[in-house]
Amino acid sequence: MTHRGRCHCGSLAFELDGEIAEVYDCNCSMCRRRGGLLAFAPADALRETGTGEAGTYRFNAHRIDHHFCTVCGIAPYSRGTGPDGSPMACVNVRCIDGLDLALLKIVQIDGASF
Ligand SMILES: [Zn+2]
Repeated sequence: MTHRGRCHCGSLAFELDGEIAEVYDCNCSMCRRRGGLLAFAPADALRETGTGEAGTYRFNAHRIDHHFCTVCGIAPYSRGTGPDGSPMACVNVRCIDGLDLALLKIVQIDGASF
């Protein structure tokens, strides 16, 4: 199935292919502040469909491009490489329209120790 989501103002929008059963709550220095719930996917499962300008934030090893809306500040998705070097996408599932967050299994990940 294809999930559709967007930032708060709609400048950034996306489509994500695949089932979402399990999401990650990360304790790294950024995620603990941002408070997103993350789903990881192969890079080509994520398509940016918005018309707005995305800002990009990088930190630590600079391996992940954390994209955010330059209008409303919401960060719907990131792109980077997985542990094996393959291109990966990461979506904040809180930005997906109509997804019932209460039905998801939330897994804590220790990003602070990576
Ligand atoms: Zn926005």
